[in-house]
Amino acid sequence: MISNEQRIMALRQHLGNISLLTGKDIGEKYSVDFTGENRQIPLAVVRPKSTKEVSLVLKACSALAQRVVIQGGLTGLAGGATPKQDEIAISLERLSGIEEVDVDSMTLTAMAGTPLQTVQEAAANAGLLLPLDYGARGSCHIGGAIATNAGGNQVIRFGMTRNLVLGLEAVLADGTIISSMNKMLKNNSGYDLKHLFIGTEGTLGVVTRAVLRLFPPLPSRCTSLCAVETFSQSVALLREMQINLGTSMSAYEVMWAPYFERVVGHIDNLQSPFDKNFPLYVLIETEGTDQNSDTRRFENTLEHALDSNIIHDAVIAQSEKDRQDFWGIRDGVGEITKALMPYASLDVSMDIANMPKFLEEFDNKLKQLFSNAMNLVFGHLGDNNLHLFVTTHCQEDIDAIYDLGYDLTGKYGGAISAEHGVGALKRKYLHHSRTHEEIDLMSRMKKVLDPKEILNIGRVIPD
Ligand SMILES: Cc1cc2nc3c(=O)[nH]c(=O)nc-3n(C[C@H](O)[C@H](O)[C@H](O)COP(=O)(O)OP(=O)(O)OC[C@H]3O[C@@H](n4cnc5c(N)ncnc54)[C@H](O)[C@@H]3O)c2cc1C
Repeated sequence: MISNEQRIMALRQHLGNISLLTGKDIGEKYSVDFTGENRQIPLAVVRPKSTKEVSLVLKACSALAQRVVIQGGLTGLAGGATPKQDEIAISLERLSGIEEVDVDSMTLTAMAGTPLQTVQEAAANAGLLLPLDYGARGSCHIGGAIATNAGGNQVIRFGMTRNLVLGLEAVLADGTIISSMNKMLKNNSGYDLKHLFIGTEGTLGVVTRAVLRLFPPLPSRCTSLCAVETFSQSVALLREMQINLGTSMSAYEVMWAPYFERVVGHIDNLQSPFDKNFPLYVLIETEGTDQNSDTRRFENTLEHALDSNIIHDAVIAQSEKDRQDFWGIRDGVGEITKALMPYASLDVSMDIANMPKFLEEFDNKLKQLFSNAMNLVFGHLGDNNLHLFVTTHCQEDIDAIYDLGYDLTGKYGGAISAEHGVGALKRKYLHHSRTHEEIDLMSRMKKVLDPKEILNIGRVIPD
């Protein structure tokens, strides 16, 4: 058994010039992800600049049986990148940069530590679109988005991050480099190995580079905020929009009244465009190539929905400011959550048909447990995804709220994580969504790819 000091000395010998921070040089930054939970300063921080350096680091850690945690932009919401005691953090922040934008093949090649926004801008500068976007764009890395298979605002049209990755390079726990930097849409030459590393949250390897699929830009945009009376009307409206507008629909966000009213009531510059309250509100956005014809089709579809009593009222954004105001209500969650602390945040998905039963049973049982509980809900309905923010303002109640929420998610056949991942915080609930055999297969895959158990241990897979 060697001491931590001896381990660091041995690492220094193996790593040569690779940046290694220890002691006071580490700083708070590497101690926790965006959740702020279970803060822990790592034993050391290694900051490789190339795939080769990542490989050297992992070879050395493997030889020393030294546990590591992989860190991207630390914006994760599942505690996956937060160090555990005596782990070394491998930060990808120096493995950053765009390698190529290939306009002819409509692909972009980037290193894993490149911030998402930098990748979006590089695509836009070449006249193309990377249709992956969410609030953490300025800080999260493209490697982190791939490792968590992030969702975001345009999933209904373009799918999750997985759908945008054509090729990938990753380093296994023993330092082996797996380079599958494919640019082709069609490639059935054996196993598609990139999927081992997409959405597996760094448990099977370190993503170091990726080839991403780009799309033509979509300059025309129509946005509307609609008021509906019932959940089934919001589903009917979704189908009406999908049938009439086809794949041009890029967002379908449903907000339940308690969430909507809390946001417009608590954020100074936001107000409801409607003169009365409704049980549900829907934010719809389409993107296309011709503003005039797209607007005509959008307005006709909404008019038809009004005439058929699917919606009760609707406002269409007439300017970019209107659009920002509508999105401000949907994105207002970021501003109201501070006042809700401590709160439980559930990111679940399920069949649309089960959503009303799930929400009703959750609210009833929640009220039985805590009469003062507040539950604010919105969801990317077209993606089957619900976000619940639940508070009693009491830290001791949080576990019971999660137990209830995930138990019911399992009962209704849903997923305990729709887009944020399992990380360290949700793995004890995984059995609600995955069978014993599925979890067993995950463990067996982990053992094959990480036999020395050094990579992101205690994340995703339950003990
Ligand atoms: C304001 C805000 C809004 C968000 N909105 C959304 C949203 O709409 N949809 C959504 O899906 N998510 C959202 N997220 C969470 C989202 O999962 C993360 O923002 C992002 O995808 C993680 O990237 P990161 O680089 O910060 O990774 P980190 O937080 O550093 O890490 C996340 C996990 O991935 C692993 N990891 C990181 N980089 C690598 C790598 N190169 N190779 C292997 N493993 C790696 C880590 O070990 C960890 O397990 C949001 C977060 C915030 C703070």
